[in-house]
Amino acid sequence: MNTMVKGLTYSGQGETAWNNYLKQLDKVAPYLGELSERLDMLRRPKRSLIVDIPVIMDDGSVKHFEGYRVQHNLTRGPGKGGVRFHPDVNLDEVMALSAWMTIKCAALNLPFGGAKGGVRVDPTELSPRELERLTRRYTTEINLIIGPQKDIPAPDVGTNPQTMAWMMDTFSMNAGSTVTGVVTGKPVHLGGSLGRVKATGRGVYISGREVAQQIGLDLAGARICVQGFGNVGSEAALLFQENGSKVICVQDHSATLYQEQGIDVKKLMQYSKAHGKIKGFAEQDEIHTANFWQIQAEIFIPAALEGVIDAAVAQSIQTKMILEGANGPTLTEADEILAERQITVVPDVICNAGGVTVSYFEWVQDLASYFWTEEEINQRMDAIMKNAVSDVWLKASVAQCSLRTAAYILACERILMARKERGIYPG
Ligand code: NAD
Repeated sequence: MNTMVKGLTYSGQGETAWNNYLKQLDKVAPYLGELSERLDMLRRPKRSLIVDIPVIMDDGSVKHFEGYRVQHNLTRGPGKGGVRFHPDVNLDEVMALSAWMTIKCAALNLPFGGAKGGVRVDPTELSPRELERLTRRYTTEINLIIGPQKDIPAPDVGTNPQTMAWMMDTFSMNAGSTVTGVVTGKPVHLGGSLGRVKATGRGVYISGREVAQQIGLDLAGARICVQGFGNVGSEAALLFQENGSKVICVQDHSATLYQEQGIDVKKLMQYSKAHGKIKGFAEQDEIHTANFWQIQAEIFIPAALEGVIDAAVAQSIQTKMILEGANGPTLTEADEILAERQITVVPDVICNAGGVTVSYFEWVQDLASYFWTEEEINQRMDAIMKNAVSDVWLKASVAQCSLRTAAYILACERILMARKERGIYPG
């Protein structure tokens, strides 16, 4: 049992994602005044559901998969958070991801709580029909706790608009009417929002641009390294390149590509979409995976997995700014080292919040059955992201703390104040 952190420790051993979250929360307590007495509420999820998902495979056999939906906190509104299909998914990770959604929605001042779901499965090993059956049964198993006013899932690693279409259809079949607002990230012709696919990468760019301005970092010609070239990493890389920066290194699960003169991001995106990986795009420029964090660049964008920036990486990395496209890429110890080395970290709860912001717009549009243009979506998202970065920057300056702690202070103040005003049922 890890005794350093207060709160519900699920697996308790070492650097789990949930323990990382608890440590981040502990850092905020001294800044919350009397509200800190209420912080215990955020140290455990409100509701955690573990489900068994039996699936009839194409060969007629039955396989069982484990699925989860965790609602971390619903004080400010319905739960919001993605669904992950990945072989490493476990309760600890889903709990942490749901908690980060609580903080993210509150830091952005969106009227949502935090939730997350997942199934421990390698989706690449299932046929499309098996994947559909898995998704539909998972949706039915969590049916009781989701809904447009309860908890609204969205895509995450290993899921996509098609998964959301199946979830929406399954929920609607059980409800007896079409309920588009039960999930976001749907295909556009099924109540999805324009701009959703690019939203997270776009948010990474906007938050990076705003903070770069604050720290006097010129984006023109700035060298950028991106880890993860999926939905988030590739769109962010493209926007930085289109705005004058130079993407010199891209890493995905298959290879690490380094081109000093700058990678043609658009061409790499086409290649990666066609082949499902970047390996082979320019074999002569592939370097060893471990060298990724050794490269000198003004900006690093981790946009793949959790926990990749540990103390050793934080000690050696040569950069000015880290933009957390992924959720939870920096461990707490690493955070402290980066702060000492005056490397600016734009935290996940702000940096990758473009996705949930446009998900919010999708939900609003579905409830109103009235849809906005992509230009309107982008304008509204820009405004919300710019405000959030400015609020967090101001809070960090006043409290003399990191941007992450500032975002947590803002979020915790909003959530705990809302709870104080609501009171505790039954009183
Ligand atoms: P994705 O599945 O589209 O892409 C993931 C990328 O990571 C792929 O390029 C994959 O090759 C790469 N990758 C996997 N394992 C790797 C490894 N060991 N080393 C290097 N690269 C590796 O996923 P995504 O939607 O782009 O999400 C990426 C991250 O961003 C996740 O942490 C996710 O939770 C977070 N996020 C996504 C969204 C969104 O809207 N998609 C929103 C907020 C946060």
